[in-house]
Amino acid sequence: MFKNENGNNMTPIINIGVLGSNALWMKREDFIPFSFGGNKARKAKLFFEEIDLGNYDCVVTYGGSHSNHCRVVANMAARRKMPCYLVEPKEVSDPTFNRSLMDLFDAQIITVPVEEVHETLENLLENLKLHGMTPYFIPGGGHGNIGTQAYVDCYEEIKTFEYQDNIKFDYIFLASGTGTTQAGLVCGQIINQDKRHIVGISIARKSPYGRDIIVESVKSYLTQIDDKTADKYVEFIDCYTGQGYGKENDEIIRTIKNVILQYGIPLDSTYTGKAFYGMNNYLKDNRIENKNILFIHTGGTPLFFDDIRKLKG
Ligand SMILES: *Cc1c(COP(=O)(O)O)cnc(C)c1O
Repeated sequence: MFKNENGNNMTPIINIGVLGSNALWMKREDFIPFSFGGNKARKAKLFFEEIDLGNYDCVVTYGGSHSNHCRVVANMAARRKMPCYLVEPKEVSDPTFNRSLMDLFDAQIITVPVEEVHETLENLLENLKLHGMTPYFIPGGGHGNIGTQAYVDCYEEIKTFEYQDNIKFDYIFLASGTGTTQAGLVCGQIINQDKRHIVGISIARKSPYGRDIIVESVKSYLTQIDDKTADKYVEFIDCYTGQGYGKENDEIIRTIKNVILQYGIPLDSTYTGKAFYGMNNYLKDNRIENKNILFIHTGGTPLFFDDIRKLKG
């Protein structure tokens, strides 16, 4: 970690070389020093600051076996010896290292068909309360204003870096899932009135649904903002989602292999690998040249190891 002038920790931004005629930088959110880091660690830290005020005695959230969010939350709960309940959709319950880690952290995992997740969560929360518990509920992926706040903070780190290193990023690319990370960055951009492109590469959701959620998140955080402004800043690209959440293709696998061989940086096929592949294509398709590009490495390191056998081919 690096420190900014206030002595706060910042994840590093490293120059990793060129992509065509563009200069490529990467913000290493995977270096956040808790539970393999990533954007879910940055968000969960803020949720647990609320929990640590002392009014709750267990945590409830949801996500599939690929979920970095569930891993980090389970680890943070384990550290506090606090029971953690995870509701998992059966459709994404294949064995992963994240799932093994959730087991290691003793999370109680309840697997149900995806259409029953919502009801299961409601019943679970009700049951816990009936048993005298006070659960803290975290929306999937750390969605909501607290999660958005985490990436407004991250945007400020980017600003600090730009100021210190006398550089301006013309484009910021990232993997967009629930859209909270993108919403936070966009709020940061609007607050600072910066001109640049923040491009979310969707890893599953399609427009308009995926995009609308980000616009809603921006409006929920920046309550003064009008619809048109929020709308203008959200660039959500849904043409690199492949076969959907957690499903890769050969080109994504090739991208991941290139990046680890060339730069020594692990990506994964659910999130960062897909986004990096999407970014490559976006830059080519839109003939973007001679720009400074920042890719946000949003973490997910355990997922890299799930893919490792596929990389061998
Ligand atoms: C969850 C996740 C994302 C997507 O973040 P959202 O805020 O849900 O859009 C991207 N990358 C990784 C590694 C993730 O775990």
